Amino acid sequence: MDFQIYNTLTRKKEVFQPIHPPHVGLYVCGPTVYGEPHLGHARPAITFDLLFRYLLHLKYQVRYVRNITDVGHLENDADEGEDKIAKKARLEQLEPMEVAQFYLDTYHVAMDKLNVKRPSIEPRASGHIIEQIEVIQRILDKGFAYISNGSVYFDIPEYAQKYHYGKLSGRILEDLLATTRSLDGQEEKRHPADFALWKKAAPEHIMRWNSPWSIGFPGWHIECTAMGTKYLGENFDIHGGGMDLLFPHHESEICQAVAAYGHESVKYWMHNNMITINGQKMGKSLGNFITLNEFFTGNHALLEQIYAPMTIRFFILQAHYRSTVDFSNEALKAAEKGMSRIFTAEKVLPQLKPGTESSENIQNWINRCYDALNDDLNSPILIAELFEAVRIINSIKDGKITLTSTDLELFKTHFSLFWNDILGMSAEEHSNSNEITGKLMDMILELRQTAKSEKNWALADAIRNHLTAIGITVKDTKEGAEWVLE
Ligand code: ZN
Repeated sequence: MDFQIYNTLTRKKEVFQPIHPPHVGLYVCGPTVYGEPHLGHARPAITFDLLFRYLLHLKYQVRYVRNITDVGHLENDADEGEDKIAKKARLEQLEPMEVAQFYLDTYHVAMDKLNVKRPSIEPRASGHIIEQIEVIQRILDKGFAYISNGSVYFDIPEYAQKYHYGKLSGRILEDLLATTRSLDGQEEKRHPADFALWKKAAPEHIMRWNSPWSIGFPGWHIECTAMGTKYLGENFDIHGGGMDLLFPHHESEICQAVAAYGHESVKYWMHNNMITINGQKMGKSLGNFITLNEFFTGNHALLEQIYAPMTIRFFILQAHYRSTVDFSNEALKAAEKGMSRIFTAEKVLPQLKPGTESSENIQNWINRCYDALNDDLNSPILIAELFEAVRIINSIKDGKITLTSTDLELFKTHFSLFWNDILGMSAEEHSNSNEITGKLMDMILELRQTAKSEKNWALADAIRNHLTAIGITVKDTKEGAEWVLE
């Protein structure tokens, strides 16, 4: 079976055929770096990590570009309001780039824990202002944008006369007119559906650059068109992101590319579905906003325990990327249990001894695993096949069945290929170091308590001093000793 992916643009599965094989250009909308990474960041990162890993396995030379939005993303994804990063900088009295760097670093740490491979290029919007101005100028020259009070807006009605507007999202211009709310500054736009390519900076706006039109900053959508075409060319293979970006972000990207270059840039659009928590959309106001770090430390009122990064990864992969995923303690614990069965079997696998004949058709199992991946990255089916592999491993261990040495070798290499290399499940990350540290600290503090009850003050103090030396402060409270890592 050929590798098929679902193209949001054509609304069907298509055989993946790169424009210039063996090269593949993959662009994924990355994070806006103004807050702690959360579950909403994990899903697209893991979805496109699976795609990236599988393309690499298929021997494609992949240039994976995942941008960093550090300017131009205004509140409520609208053309008005404060820049998300500038707002955080103002509240915390920091330089905007300090905010962006801090949360980019935090994002990288979380993604490393989730065993998400780093992309080939991570371009930052603020580092590509010149490229964005160039694309805006092209769109102006082609007559699909206009200048209004120092800002530049994309002219949707003009575009819709010549091209198909709404082809990705299925939105219709007339409906947009009826549903668009009137906002402050809307009078700058000729049509409510028009979107900003460049915004003139208000006096209090701290992130600002020179341009032919005003001192200002780029609109949110233009960065992806500018950086996508800069690094992948005017025609590239795959553009991915979360379904929440489909409109207006990706629809606007199509408009910008078609207006600037006369044709679309992207061959396949791929979108991962969203995450809910206990059946609800995740949101700060709902009190169910859980950061990845809170999952890894168990430090959130809704969480009953620590969830290791691999549990989060496995749980996300257990659903097909186009289905919704609902997080709950019950579902996560069930995932953790299932995942542990596979990790336990993985440890047994190297010890298995070959027999004289094979009672299982290993080649069939391998083919079924590939069929799952080739069917639009069907990770739940692939995981079901790994549970089938667990059954085979346990049956060999119990002496119920055998595999010839050739089949056993084939089985071992493919188990590792599908589980470690393609699904990206890592036994190292599986052992949760936070959990181990916690248990070790309990033990050390218990020993110190024993020393104190035996009036061995020298030993009790020595333990405390050793801990202080490595940055752990021990505080004695009525409830017992507490520790903090300074
Ligand atoms: Zn984007």
